Amino acid sequence: MPELPEVETIRRELERDVIGRRIKTVAVTGNRSIRRHANKKLFITRLEGTKITHVDRKGKYLVLKLDSTDLLVIHLGMSGQLLRVAAKEAVAKHTHVTITFTQGGQLRFVDPRTFGEMFVTTGDELTDEVPELATLGVDPVEEPMSWQTFGHMLMRHQMKLKTFLMDQSIIAGLGNIYSDEILFAAGLRYDRQSDSLSTQEMRRLYRSLVETLHDAIKYGGSTLSDEQYVDLAGKAGEYQEHHKVYDREKQACRRCRAPIAKAKFQGRSTYFCEQCQV
Ligand SMILES: [Zn+2]
Repeated sequence: MPELPEVETIRRELERDVIGRRIKTVAVTGNRSIRRHANKKLFITRLEGTKITHVDRKGKYLVLKLDSTDLLVIHLGMSGQLLRVAAKEAVAKHTHVTITFTQGGQLRFVDPRTFGEMFVTTGDELTDEVPELATLGVDPVEEPMSWQTFGHMLMRHQMKLKTFLMDQSIIAGLGNIYSDEILFAAGLRYDRQSDSLSTQEMRRLYRSLVETLHDAIKYGGSTLSDEQYVDLAGKAGEYQEHHKVYDREKQACRRCRAPIAKAKFQGRSTYFCEQCQV
């Protein structure tokens, strides 16, 4: 599932590419992708004729502001892709929504597993639609903080580190891949208690959090073998080639050569190095 670096990669591309563009027509062929609307007409009429003025991200949600004051919200789910293409380009299988601009091609939403979605709402109604956004935690890329503030958050929550990192109400946008990579970079185990860290460990965890995410964005995010994540141009991310632990069970640790371990933690696979992480 795309996490902060993948969604931020797409946000930056959209910001460069669709701001100022006016939507001419919208075609919906997959109703499940716009399931919050009673029918597709209600979705289409709020988009046609509007211009995109801002592209924001809230956690893993893309929020496009329109000059009508409505918001177009996009969540990629498990397998959603947004593609910028020329109108004449062949339509990929599982294309559910096609937005055509007055000048400059189309934006297509492709989603084989249909967990992703698009909907139009207002700023006031956004948190009614997605309650998770009302309690969204800090964004480590958009809102840098001091390591001391981060340290207080660790002390206050008293939970295992992986749970802490993946809790959207504490830190926004992290999932299974980046929590494992951040913990490896910090030399900390997934099941360490958040309130057991030394001052030095807190600083190291905060630095690893920020650096790992910025690095992942620099490489355009991660595309796994079983996932469909691509950028607006249809290009896969490259950060998976830089993963230190995620999906590397039994492969040699890049730091100490010990085999990477895999554990089940809260129903999900967790990858770590038993030598490097304490
Ligand atoms: Zn190691």
